Amino acid sequence: MSLPQSVRLVEVGPRDGLQNEKQPISVADKVRLVDDLTAAGLSYIEVGSFVSPKWVPQMAGSAEVFAGIQHKPGVTYAALAPNLKGFEAALAAGVKEVAVFAAASEAFSQKNINCSIKESLERFVPVMDAAREHGIRVRGYVSCVLGCPYQGEVDLQQVAAVAAELDAMGCYEVSLGDTIGVGTAGQTRRLFETVAAKVPRERLAGHFHDTYGQALANIYASLLEGIAVFDSSVAGLGGCPYAKGATGNVASEDVLYLLDGLGIHSGIAMDALIAAGQRICALLDKPNGSRVARARLARG
Ligand code: MG
Repeated sequence: MSLPQSVRLVEVGPRDGLQNEKQPISVADKVRLVDDLTAAGLSYIEVGSFVSPKWVPQMAGSAEVFAGIQHKPGVTYAALAPNLKGFEAALAAGVKEVAVFAAASEAFSQKNINCSIKESLERFVPVMDAAREHGIRVRGYVSCVLGCPYQGEVDLQQVAAVAAELDAMGCYEVSLGDTIGVGTAGQTRRLFETVAAKVPRERLAGHFHDTYGQALANIYASLLEGIAVFDSSVAGLGGCPYAKGATGNVASEDVLYLLDGLGIHSGIAMDALIAAGQRICALLDKPNGSRVARARLARG
């Protein structure tokens, strides 16, 4: 299989990233981050999450963020909407695309979403129905595809089964997440080989964390498997709640450097992306999690 000619990056920094950062951040600063990412050429930005602010205080104000951002034609601004209540709030905020998430690990599902995998999928049925009715596209996430913080190993057939369920329910794309960042390139290839038997590769995406420093290797392995959509987070925003001090989401700048080096088109401008990451890191008073950004900034 040859490498894809173009890749779509799904920028998850404003949601998956900020959700896992401790410092509170204002609506205005979130709006600025999304606008900066739009200006850098991202075509898909996950802006917020419509979940109870009791669970995820960082995502309070997602409706205000949606109201404040510039909506550039051709760019998708999405939100997480794990249940019907969240979906309705997203709809009221003018969101045109939502995401739902399930786990491939039974133990993780119980601890994180407080229900079994089967129950979590059943919960999405009314969301999928409402989305269809309103012409809203739904993206699916599967977490813990290469390992679980509670049960350890995860069966790839189980990953394929959950991905196939989300696909059958009507998700136009399913993103497979190595939530704890333990996977290797060999495992990543087997993952996509296994899941592609049930869901076509053009409807699959990869979501890698850099906990063990393997995220870019895993993305390259995915490219070799014909996968052309990857989730990433500007400046590597978002720690890893399961491994203290570990890095979380792979940094968008680092993925872009890989893609640029392979001559794979993404439409994203490196300098503008680095500037967006630096601005938010300064606000959060934390070091930039992108190796590429740090190297470029050190060069001056
Ligand atoms: Mg993540």
